[in-house]
Amino acid sequence: MPTFWDARYKNPSVNRIAEHWFIDYLPVFERVKKEWNIPIRNFYKKIMSVHLKEDDNSSNANSSSIRIHIEPIADMKMLMEIDYLFGNIDFRQIDILKKFLVAAEPSLPLFSEDSPHDEHLADIIALTKKKLDKLDPRQFNNDLFKIFFEGDTDIFGRYYLKGGIVLYVIPCVLFCEANGLDLYTFVVMILAHELAHGYNHRGKDKDNYMWKNFGRVDTMVLEGLAQYYTYEFLKKQLHKLEEGKRTFMYLLKYQAIQYRCFEEWDTTPEKIYSTFIEFRRGEYNKYEDFLQMLAGAKIRIHGDVVDD
Ligand SMILES: [Zn+2]
Repeated sequence: MPTFWDARYKNPSVNRIAEHWFIDYLPVFERVKKEWNIPIRNFYKKIMSVHLKEDDNSSNANSSSIRIHIEPIADMKMLMEIDYLFGNIDFRQIDILKKFLVAAEPSLPLFSEDSPHDEHLADIIALTKKKLDKLDPRQFNNDLFKIFFEGDTDIFGRYYLKGGIVLYVIPCVLFCEANGLDLYTFVVMILAHELAHGYNHRGKDKDNYMWKNFGRVDTMVLEGLAQYYTYEFLKKQLHKLEEGKRTFMYLLKYQAIQYRCFEEWDTTPEKIYSTFIEFRRGEYNKYEDFLQMLAGAKIRIHGDVVDD
C-alpha cells in the first residue's frame, strides 16, 4: 500500500491537501496543538477534578502520557472511496458558490433595467442555485461520514487506549471545505473532544483512581461525556474562539446518537462530575446505569461526593 504522498488522487481536494500539506494544512494542526493543548488540559483538570501524571510539569507536553499525532487519514482505503464517490468534486465548490450568491443576490436590483447585462446576472444566479442544489452538502456529509465511520470510533480524530491522540487531517479539511467552516476552530474542537476521552480515561481522581474498564463501556457514555466536556470548554472560549460553539452545534446535526445523547442530560456540571466519578469507580458499563445515576446524582451532591 503506497503512503499518502506517493499516490495521486482523482479528488481535487485530496490532491490539494497532498500538494500543500506542509504549507497550508500541517501548520494549522500544529498551531492548534501548540496554542490549545495546555488550556484544554487545564480546563479538564479543573472541571473533572482529575489529573494526569504530566500535569505537574505541563509545560513539557512532549513527555505527555497523551501524545498528540497528526496523520492524513486513518485508513488509505478511505481515499479510494472518496475518489470513487466524489471523483471530480472540489469540496470548496459549495462554499465558493454560496459566497457568490450572498454577494450577488442583493446586488441584482442595483443593475439598471435598461442594461442588457441584467439578464446575465439573473441567469448566473439561477445557474449557481441549480449547481448548489446538485452539490447538496447534507448528502456530502452523510456520504463522508459513511466513508470515515468505522464501527464506533471517532472519525476526525481518535483517542487510543494506550494513551495517544491522532488528529486526521483529510476528514477535518473535507468537512470544513464542504461546509464553509473554519479549519482552525474545527481542529480545536476535535482536540478538545479527544483530550476529554483522555482525561476521562487516564485522569486520576483524588484517591488515584483511573477508569479501569474504559474500553468496555457503552459508547453512549464515553462519547456523551467527551461531547459534554467539549461543549463546556467551547462555551467558555467564545472570547478566544468565537466560532467554537457554533461549529460544535453545526457538526452535531450530522453525528450519530452517541454524540448527541448528552443533550438529554438536563443537569449541572456537579451532577455530571459525581456521576462520572461514581460510574468509573463502580466499574459499570451500561448507559442505563449511567442515566440512573445521573437521575439520582442530585441526592448524592448533598452528601460528600462533590463537596469534599
Ligand atoms: Zn469520541
